[in-house]
Amino acid sequence: MLSHEGRSVVLVVEDEPSYQEALNIGLTVEGFVVLGASNLAQARQLMTSTRPDLVLLDVMLPDGSGIDYCREIFDSSRVPVIMVSARTSEVDIVLGLEIGAADYVTKPYRLRELVARMRAVLRRPITNDDDETITFGDVRIDLVRRTVAKQGIEVELSRKEFDLLALFASRLGQVVTRDVCLDTLWWGLELTDTRTLDTHVKRLRQKIESDPANPRHLLTIRGVGFRLDA
Ligand code: CA
Repeated sequence: MLSHEGRSVVLVVEDEPSYQEALNIGLTVEGFVVLGASNLAQARQLMTSTRPDLVLLDVMLPDGSGIDYCREIFDSSRVPVIMVSARTSEVDIVLGLEIGAADYVTKPYRLRELVARMRAVLRRPITNDDDETITFGDVRIDLVRRTVAKQGIEVELSRKEFDLLALFASRLGQVVTRDVCLDTLWWGLELTDTRTLDTHVKRLRQKIESDPANPRHLLTIRGVGFRLDA
């Protein structure tokens, strides 16, 4: 992630010139190094010649599907991909397929929201083939496949619940403040009701704790945040 004097390199794969230009300017202002590709052929070239920290990938491209390319990136590297779709119907496809996308946005999006999501993805723990799981107690988290198992039995988590658990697990034994949780999961957007976070934590406890009323792992640090203990 640290390259170009500490700036993250983002590969923007986008065939609409207006979006490409706006992202080039906007993301550069935000401190990113921006590489632009307007089709998959260019994207593949840039993925080989440079190693971006993050890929913004449009779904509909002139020489193929961003969905297929996302799967290709996921299979060959651990570079996180944020899918960019033009229609909400595409989002369903993106979410329905296990293509390994780290996140997605729908056009039109606000630059502020996109940047917040990019930073959140870049903050996630970096995984590789040798180190893709985190274990605590009888719970095992697979960060690559985004699955969680308790006593070997798979537990079904929502997207947000998984992201929250992965955030806690990446800082095992350390306090994660409420602000960091909100910033990472809700991209720094104002939540009208921050109790949503507590609801997610409560649901997580019901799924991963043997006695959710007396949690042994996912602890509340009153007035500060939460801590996941092994
Ligand atoms: Ca397109």
